Amino acid sequence: MQNFFLDQTTIEIHREIKTGNICHVVFDFDGTISLIRDGWQNVMVPMMVEFLQIETDTPEPREELEAIVVEFVDRLTGKQTIYQMIQLSEEIEKRGGKSKAPLAYKDEYNRRLLPVVERRIAKLAAGKLPAETLRVPMALEFLQTLRDLGVSCYLASGTDVEFVRNEAELLGVSEYFDGGIFGALREYKKFSKALVIQKILTDFHLSGSQLLIVGDGYVEIENAKAVDAIAVGVASVEDNIYNMNADKRERLIRAGADIILPDFRDGAQLLKYLLPTTRGLHL
Ligand SMILES: [Mg+2]
Repeated sequence: MQNFFLDQTTIEIHREIKTGNICHVVFDFDGTISLIRDGWQNVMVPMMVEFLQIETDTPEPREELEAIVVEFVDRLTGKQTIYQMIQLSEEIEKRGGKSKAPLAYKDEYNRRLLPVVERRIAKLAAGKLPAETLRVPMALEFLQTLRDLGVSCYLASGTDVEFVRNEAELLGVSEYFDGGIFGALREYKKFSKALVIQKILTDFHLSGSQLLIVGDGYVEIENAKAVDAIAVGVASVEDNIYNMNADKRERLIRAGADIILPDFRDGAQLLKYLLPTTRGLHL
């Protein structure tokens, strides 16, 4: 099928899908709903390069280490943060260094990212920054419409669950996730987006076309396609100095996204397309 844009919208349809059945939606958080952690790569990458330099005797120049780090950080985005730290540990060991536990690196990363996040949260709390500037455009309105339609919504994030809960609250979106808010756990094997998706399918005896997955990372798009769910890729703009995700749209398409949009500005039209039999709602 040739991809096409829904009439006068920013919504790109890439595959013919079975519409009209959706009753559960799983959202990714960072980059999909929230921009609070936008630019996190600017903290993670230099930290990892620093540890590679301090904890090994590698002769590789900084730029080379940076390129290696950028590649794996980017590749593992969407999974829990710990997987990026596990890779860092392996890179340190590979270069003859003695690595700390991956969790220790993750704690250090959270410690360094916290001031960035807290500055934004403080501005939000002081009323200097409207919540909508830290949300992906029209995300709140999209969630409200889903609730009006009686569709259950879930949040599943690779960020630690306590941060996700707090940030969702601050952004005014937590009340819309009636299905639950899920995120990374210290016992990281007990959580993955795939597990959340599988549990919803099992609990409600759903077929793929009854479940919609919305995310800006190829991990959740792949998870969606693995169970035949409908996948919407959000090609949101990111602020990182490494030009990571410059080809976000193409990557989401490659991962199997059925639909691509830049944000939720045309969310009402998307729902009209996905749920054409919806009556009595002024979308
Ligand atoms: Mg994301």
